[in-house]
Amino acid sequence: MMEELRELYQEFILDHGKNPRNFRVPEGANRSAEGYNPLCGDRVTVTLRLSGDVIEDIGFQGQGCAISTAAASTMTEAVVGQTVSEARALMERYIEVVKGGEGDLEALDKLAVFAGVSEFPMRVKCATLAWHTLTAAMDGEDTTVTTE
Ligand code: ZN
Repeated sequence: MMEELRELYQEFILDHGKNPRNFRVPEGANRSAEGYNPLCGDRVTVTLRLSGDVIEDIGFQGQGCAISTAAASTMTEAVVGQTVSEARALMERYIEVVKGGEGDLEALDKLAVFAGVSEFPMRVKCATLAWHTLTAAMDGEDTTVTTE
């Protein structure tokens, strides 16, 4: 991996791990799913407001390691405003890169820093948990989530 990307990766994980973005339940949320990574103990709940097939707003909550938190945080920023199929396509590219495959880093934009995870196979599940949870939430039936 490029040295530059490695440094960016560490900075990124620290920043998002400490100050997660969209750590909340969106107003008017109508989809949610919970994810659990027993390997590491990461727990995440992804909640979104889907309008038609557009992700209008998305947030997450939960507790986990810095990588799982950073991955969920980055994911919410990456998919907001996207359609369900765009988010799925992005997830496929992301997972390929996280697993060390040949991916289009440029198309991944900020998510490209997670290519760093491929050097730590034990951490791949931490980095993909939120995305699998997002898929479950998008696939799910409409459920009303109470926002207090
Ligand atoms: Zn973890």
